[in-house]
Amino acid sequence: AQLDTLDLIVLAVLLAGTVAYFTKGTYWGIPKDPYAVAYSSANGAKAGKTRNILEKMDESEKNCVVFYGSQTGTAEDYASRLSKEGSQRFGLKTMVADLEDYDYENFDTFPNDKLAVFVLATYGEGEPTDNAVDFYEFVIKEDVSFSNGGGVDEKPLQNLKFVAFGLGNNTYEHYNSMVRRVNDALVKLGASRIGTAGEGDDGAGTMEEDFLAWKEPMWTELSEKMGLEEREAVYEPVFSITERDDLDANADEVYLGEPNKHHLEGSQKGPYNSHNPYIAPIAESREVFTVKDRNCLHMEIDIKGSNLTYQTGDHIAVWPTNAGVEVDRMINVLGLSEKRHCVISVKGLDPTAKVPFPTPTTYDAAIRYHMEICGAASRQFVSSLAPFAPNEQTKAEMTRLGNDKDYFSDKVSSQYLNIAQVLEKVDSVNKWSNIPFSIMIEGIHKIQPRYYSISSSSLVQKDKISITAVVETIRVPGSENIVKGVTTNYLLALKQKQHGDPNPDPHGLTYAITGPRNKYNGCHVPVHVRHSNFKLPSDPSKPIIMIGPGSGVAPFRGFIQERAAQAEAGEKVGQTILFYGCRKSSEDFLYKEEWEHYKQALGSSFTLITAFSREQREKVYVQQRLQENAALVNQLLEKEKGNFYVCGDASNMARAVSDVLGKIVSDQRGVSIEKGEEIVKMMRSSNQYQEDVW
Ligand code: FAD
Repeated sequence: AQLDTLDLIVLAVLLAGTVAYFTKGTYWGIPKDPYAVAYSSANGAKAGKTRNILEKMDESEKNCVVFYGSQTGTAEDYASRLSKEGSQRFGLKTMVADLEDYDYENFDTFPNDKLAVFVLATYGEGEPTDNAVDFYEFVIKEDVSFSNGGGVDEKPLQNLKFVAFGLGNNTYEHYNSMVRRVNDALVKLGASRIGTAGEGDDGAGTMEEDFLAWKEPMWTELSEKMGLEEREAVYEPVFSITERDDLDANADEVYLGEPNKHHLEGSQKGPYNSHNPYIAPIAESREVFTVKDRNCLHMEIDIKGSNLTYQTGDHIAVWPTNAGVEVDRMINVLGLSEKRHCVISVKGLDPTAKVPFPTPTTYDAAIRYHMEICGAASRQFVSSLAPFAPNEQTKAEMTRLGNDKDYFSDKVSSQYLNIAQVLEKVDSVNKWSNIPFSIMIEGIHKIQPRYYSISSSSLVQKDKISITAVVETIRVPGSENIVKGVTTNYLLALKQKQHGDPNPDPHGLTYAITGPRNKYNGCHVPVHVRHSNFKLPSDPSKPIIMIGPGSGVAPFRGFIQERAAQAEAGEKVGQTILFYGCRKSSEDFLYKEEWEHYKQALGSSFTLITAFSREQREKVYVQQRLQENAALVNQLLEKEKGNFYVCGDASNMARAVSDVLGKIVSDQRGVSIEKGEEIVKMMRSSNQYQEDVW
């Protein structure tokens, strides 16, 4: 029989694998299979651009690449800061690289006079960030293959010098596991690390200070090892900003907040993903709290006709727009008021510099739609703005803030100030018009979509995604400042608009609610879907136990909606137990009436166990209720092999629940507490215990 193309490809891949096995025992030097290449280029890498990092470094004359694995933009921001510092303070020829844009088969030929820096965030349950999945799998696969003795005399990465910093959260079980595992694998493969493998801790709120404390000794060791001379850092812009007097803001080619070309040309096109949102109609929206001073939104996002799909337990990402007052504050403090709608072209001065938003655009659109202007100001960024202060006195204050950790904490961090608020506070009279706009683009993250656990079942409403979002409003103790969550207040404004307010202004914020060129008019919001592993058992007769206080109940509304529909369709549905907690049953009891409706459908297989923390003198939380139901919980998990789910607050609740479960297992099964904890660990690794926490 004749071989068709697919057979040939399969044979070629098998042959490549065999060659790898018999030659080096690893996959170094073996090009990726054609499917993998096609897949990765569809996933972000631009067609026609090299995926060979060594070639890229050679052609752009770089000797240092700073890779980032980033989910929320912080790791990307740290990578660009390290890259700038390396170049400005130590004369390295640096570039920043997104891990998903390159392949790693040729890392065994990484020259020893060059340097690779890895800035790696750990996501969720010790997982790599989306853009680091392929890199991570490659490195770990190499490590395993090498450790299994694949017949290698020399360690494949012995030429590679690297630096590593991880971003993690100590309240999660797998604290900083990305940087730890990648570091171990690289070292085992022969690479030599310079400095320690740094670890920043978001859980303790010390990420920024951990980073600053880690990098100085790393630079010292690096300069010794690579023979670098430190010099007075002089700011060199990464981007050129050209004000385009020849273009009017309304010209067709000017981006006024549109995320990409298709959107600009008015023909949004799928696939919709983290690079390309779908401008979705909001079908419905309502308030689900009954108190005045706090808000929780229920929204129905219509995805019909978009080709977007979801499964119960997935996440929806919402792309926010900054509040008008914050956009105005930034424009005003930078002295850009007159020029806010002036068209600018932004270009990377270096071929490896990526402009984080499409251009030509305007100052207003860049700040409003693309820059995370409300985030906490960083000490290093404040320090880097000192040279552009309007006068010497202001410069001295900025320098002090930059150098004195405690002073900065007192004046800035503890007040939750964003960068424009810092500038306003340091000098409220003069404008900061000497600050080059490039440094603002470099120093402020690209605005990030926020994720929400979908609170509907895809079986019941495949074309409509529900969101349950608590609106963030934090009164900073001892300060006048109120931090207002970027996305949740934007959603609140959209809800107000949908309910007839033409100029919604939740908490005194206003928004460009109709979007660029009114493209979001009629109540639309940009979204995409992210698939998750947080899933119901495929067999509905299996019992499930769900712990979801506060907005952590979101995915469980979806789970229960699904099981109720299955029961109504005559399927056998197993025990479905929800532990829910909030302050008061009369204030913030989410979906209070709906649970009764599900109860009718599910009958005795549904149990809702509540903990209202403020209804009695002693506070009561879900973990106490779990303890009170120890025998039932253990029986469902041990005898009936049910699943256990936790969703919501990562820092306290999720850990407390895990500890309580360890204790329950220990008590009920008559084993030691250590053994109980070990069993819980095993439940996690076999997916019997699943978390969706933030
Ligand atoms: P942001 O502007 O992002 O602010 C968030 C927090 O950052 C503030 O509360 C404050 O602590 C801090 N902060 C902001 N600005 C400053 C500053 N200047 N200085 C110091 N600190 C500052 N939320 C839900 O309500 N429902 C869900 O179902 C849900 N599901 C999620 C699922 C996943 C997988 C993840 C990762 C998160 C989920 N979240 C959910 C949380 C959600 O993504 C957002 O984080 C949340 O809504 C806040 O977003 P925001 O833009 O309104 O607030």
